[in-house]
Amino acid sequence: MTKYFIGLDVGGMSMKAGLVDENGKIICKDTCVTAPERPYAEVVKDMYELCRKTAEKGGVDFESVAGVGIGIPGTVNSEKGTVTYSGNLNFVKVGVLKEFAKHTRVKTFIGNDANCAALGEARFGSGGGKKNAILVTLGTGVGTGFILNDRILEGNDGAGAEGGHICIRINGEKCTCGERGCWEAYASATALIRQTERALEKYPDSIMHDIVKEMGKVSGRTAFLAYNKGDKAGAKVVKDYVKYVACGIINLVNVFRPDVIMIGGGVSHEGDYFVKMVEKIVRRHSFGGSNNKVPPVVRASLGNDAGIIGAAALAM
Ligand SMILES: [Zn+2]
Repeated sequence: MTKYFIGLDVGGMSMKAGLVDENGKIICKDTCVTAPERPYAEVVKDMYELCRKTAEKGGVDFESVAGVGIGIPGTVNSEKGTVTYSGNLNFVKVGVLKEFAKHTRVKTFIGNDANCAALGEARFGSGGGKKNAILVTLGTGVGTGFILNDRILEGNDGAGAEGGHICIRINGEKCTCGERGCWEAYASATALIRQTERALEKYPDSIMHDIVKEMGKVSGRTAFLAYNKGDKAGAKVVKDYVKYVACGIINLVNVFRPDVIMIGGGVSHEGDYFVKMVEKIVRRHSFGGSNNKVPPVVRASLGNDAGIIGAAALAM
């Protein structure tokens, strides 16, 4: 008999649940608003209600599912089942699993949402089931998730795995975390836009100006579009940005030497050629060069479903 799991991906705006089989396939999905300004017990009750509804939508009795996994943005202590801090959800030191268990007897697990996405990608996505995989998400910030020996790396009280805030330049660019020189301040889509804006000022003849006019704004794509049309200033922005992305990855490779590095987030949609450019630098500059095994750098493949599938994988 097929085993079914529920994966729940909770965000500040909405939560998404999926009925997932043991092969990581989503049978059906459902969603509802989170409304985190309410008392947290009400939010947890809605989490339960959404899980139950999603199971029923897929024709499965909720109490018969093999397990529920919940991905939460913030610092999560998965062993204790508590959330230390989640700014998006307005949760401070709350026992989510204990509250959830008031509604059901189904075995339930929680984890940080980025870690869940990494687990989903590693097991059922571009990681191809490899035991050691790192997911790097290049979006508004730089998110990282580490799967080592098939387990999520959480660190003390779930506060580890914040690879976006490793320092790549002393006294460098200001980061959203309050520190300076973090990888995120150079390799996020936000940082790429800032780098593009500076190049626009410096190179008045660049075709990036035409692209901005046409698109109506500077975006993470501006420099890439110009680069692909042979623009020199665009090429400089792209090549520098690729170096920044690769720099952080090389640091991670030197510490963890995973089997595979997976890149997700908005910037990864630029395509395989971008990922290949990053991989080339990682290959050249990782410790030991070609004498050591250098992990391939690949594009994440599950997209927005990684959170649901990975949350479900917590319970597998
Ligand atoms: Zn930072």
